[in-house]
Amino acid sequence: MIESADVVVLGLGPAGASAAAAAARRGCKVIALDRKREAGVPVQCAELVPAMLEVAAGSVRQSIDSMLTFVEGEAPDLTPHFPGRMLDRARFDAALVAQAVQAGADCRFSVAIKGISPQGVVRTNQGYSVRGDTIIGADGPRSIAGRAIGSVNRELVETRQVTLPLLEPHAATDIFLSAGIPGGYGWLFPKGEVANLGAGVTPRHKAQLKSIVSRLHSQLIEEKRVGHGILGLTGGAIPVGGMLKPFGLLQRTLVLLAGDAAGLANPVTGAGIAAAVHSGRLAGQAAAEGNAQAYQEDLEDLYGAALERAVLRRRELLNSKMEKSALRRGWIAYPEYWQ
Ligand SMILES: Cc1cc2nc3c(=O)[nH]c(=O)nc-3n(C[C@H](O)[C@H](O)[C@H](O)COP(=O)(O)OP(=O)(O)OC[C@H]3O[C@@H](n4cnc5c(N)ncnc54)[C@H](O)[C@@H]3O)c2cc1C
Repeated sequence: MIESADVVVLGLGPAGASAAAAAARRGCKVIALDRKREAGVPVQCAELVPAMLEVAAGSVRQSIDSMLTFVEGEAPDLTPHFPGRMLDRARFDAALVAQAVQAGADCRFSVAIKGISPQGVVRTNQGYSVRGDTIIGADGPRSIAGRAIGSVNRELVETRQVTLPLLEPHAATDIFLSAGIPGGYGWLFPKGEVANLGAGVTPRHKAQLKSIVSRLHSQLIEEKRVGHGILGLTGGAIPVGGMLKPFGLLQRTLVLLAGDAAGLANPVTGAGIAAAVHSGRLAGQAAAEGNAQAYQEDLEDLYGAALERAVLRRRELLNSKMEKSALRRGWIAYPEYWQ
């Protein structure tokens, strides 16, 4: 059986839910699919967003006002103005899906996409297929839609994160830079009475992630900042190669990519939620209007320069001896990064 819609959205993370809502609000018949059983679960995220991002009530766990950067365990450098919010990411994703449903999108969970034919027919694990005038690939860093049009994230960072009891209230994001965390960094992000502690590294060093995070955990226990207990464990891949061509054709089906599928996460910070929401909205609009070129131009205007700088700084760091000066130049808190 093949169902038809104007717009088929693959993935119901922030990009897909935003795209589905935007296209449905413009009168499109939208079918959106995700293999998860429910929106946002399991959470694979450190849950920090910039304060500027509009967030549904009930999705915020605490505010962030500053950033502390620890280079090789030295006393931290303070970035005093770094306004952000720590989310309840599962609620955040669920609220975006609720908005898409309210706009009229048919959002279906527990549906895995198995493949896309050269004619643009999306095959699911539920015994049916779906076709649309437009497919929006919002299916994350290893996007099937991206693969179908040859836009593939080739550089990734692998991560591991634990959630821990936080012993004292904290309103800063702590960043740990070290040659011992190659291709990424460590983080401690406070969330009320708990905190997310994690690290990201190049895939080559993935086997070291467990010991890197344990080391950070032990150090923070010693400093009496966090407790022993591990309340949650997660991880996942982050695209770090920069923006991909965000559209292509499968015969007469237009394919647009949004969020991580389009390589929009920042290659240095790993932040991709805000870009997923915004690019998703633009993709939904572009699907309704059939204007892929304008979509690409919008993404380049919004993210091109920042992503190019981040790709460059990350490559410089990977090609360096990772001495302290190189670590600083590779991180957004330092003026050298922006020079
Ligand atoms: C450990 C970690 C920490 C992070 N921390 C932060 C942070 O603090 N702040 C920040 O801004 N960003 C962070 N990020 C990045 C951020 O999570 C992503 O940039 C963001 O989720 C991208 O949204 P998206 O909608 O493009 O993709 P996703 O959120 O990945 O959504 C993709 C959806 O597609 C679905 N899907 C994929 N394949 C299929 C398939 N075959 N069939 C059906 N469904 C499919 C998935 O189930 C998923 O729901 C972090 C990432 C990781 C891994």
